[in-house]
Amino acid sequence: MAGEPQADCLFCKIVAKEVPATIVRETETTLAFRDINPQAPTHVLVIPKVHYPNGAALAAAEPAIAGDVLREAGEVAADEKIDESGYRIIFNTGPGAGQTVFHAHAHVLGGRDLQRLV
Ligand code: 5GP
Ligand code: ZN
Repeated sequence: MAGEPQADCLFCKIVAKEVPATIVRETETTLAFRDINPQAPTHVLVIPKVHYPNGAALAAAEPAIAGDVLREAGEVAADEKIDESGYRIIFNTGPGAGQTVFHAHAHVLGGRDLQRLV
C-alpha cells in the first residue's frame, strides 16, 4: 500500500529505530536527524515517517505531510540558529540529481556561505 514501510529502505529503518540516528526533532508525521556525511555545519535531513520515493511523490499523495516536512525544515533552521543567516532546503529527486536514498527527504543546510546556486 502507498506510504507503507519498505523492508529494504534505510530511512524506514531509521523511522522504526532499527538503525540509529542523531534525531533532532520528531513529530507524529516527521523525523529530523543529522546527515551522516555533513556538507555544512548544519546538515539535517527531514523525512516523512511514511515511505514515498521522493518529495514530489509525497506531495502528490500526502500534501499535508509534505507541508509538515517543510514546516519542520524551518523549525530545524530556527533551532540551529541559521534562520537569520540563511539556509537551503534541497530535495534531490532522481539519480541524475544525486538522490541515493529513495525515501523522501529534505536536506536542511546552513552555517556557512552556501553560494548562490540558481
Ligand atoms: P540523497 O543523496 O538521497 O539526497 O541524500 C541521502 C543522504 O543520506 C546523504 O546526504 C547521506 O549522507 C545520508 N545518509 C546515508 N546513509 C545514512 C545513514 O545511515 N544515516 C544518516 N544519518 N544519514 C545517512
Ligand atoms: Zn522508506
